[in-house]
Amino acid sequence: MRQRFGIGFDSHTFVEKRPLILGGVTVDYPKGLKGHSDGDAVAHAIIDALLGAAAMGDVGRLFPDTDKRWKGADSMLLLAEVRRRVVAASYSIVNVDVTVIAERPKLAPYIDQMRENIGKVLGLPASAVSVKAKTNEKMDAVGRGKGIQVFAVASIGGA
Ligand code: MG
Repeated sequence: MRQRFGIGFDSHTFVEKRPLILGGVTVDYPKGLKGHSDGDAVAHAIIDALLGAAAMGDVGRLFPDTDKRWKGADSMLLLAEVRRRVVAASYSIVNVDVTVIAERPKLAPYIDQMRENIGKVLGLPASAVSVKAKTNEKMDAVGRGKGIQVFAVASIGGA
């Protein structure tokens, strides 16, 4: 089995009056992430990592924000569609690793639920799904709590 890797990144700003959804978990916080879909930056970074590993494009190409179908979309459903496409191209998903950078809220209480949700969608055990949260040590816009950034790496095998 040939092993391939992909990297994904996403960045969203906080806005008022939106739920904060990360890895399919609604996080208790007064602000949410701006975006055409539900703004789930964790799901988007994983999507780009998987598509990158398979060299199959990126989230914006598959689900353009000019398309009304994706307005307010549940990004975990978009992730499920990406899994379907990657598997249809004869790849198997090996593992994903995610780093969320957010000054606040504290995400530790939500990490295990995110791993479970992501694993369910990707057909992976939680042992193959890593989610880590860090602050930006108060530096730059993310450090001032303006938004969230997410990095993801995915490994796939086959083809
Ligand atoms: Mg995004």
